[in-house]
Amino acid sequence: MKTLVCSHCQTHVPIGANVCTGCGAEVVRGATRRERSRFGLLFVAGAVVLLVVALRAWQIGTGSTHLPQPNSEAALLLILGAIALLALAYITGKTTGRLFRRSQVRFFRTYRHQ
Ligand SMILES: [Zn+2]
Repeated sequence: MKTLVCSHCQTHVPIGANVCTGCGAEVVRGATRRERSRFGLLFVAGAVVLLVVALRAWQIGTGSTHLPQPNSEAALLLILGAIALLALAYITGKTTGRLFRRSQVRFFRTYRHQ
């Protein structure tokens, strides 16, 4: 059977195992949760830039330098739209992060009290 070798203790771990049988290191395939959320935040930052550019283009296009009044329905829609867009960007980023390092297997040793 094909095995993986733990980078910490050199134990041969069966493919498909979630932890190293030798030292208890976590076997992670692909990006970690932290890396995925970093991707998400990166996409959100990109979406914010796009949003600002689009808003500026819209202002230039309409010849109006004023945003809708804060109490108007248009402003509410704009805010909800922006939130939806940012949430979508975050999810897209996380999904992209999942594809990143997909074929890579890494061992993470977490220190726990035993
Ligand atoms: Zn190990």
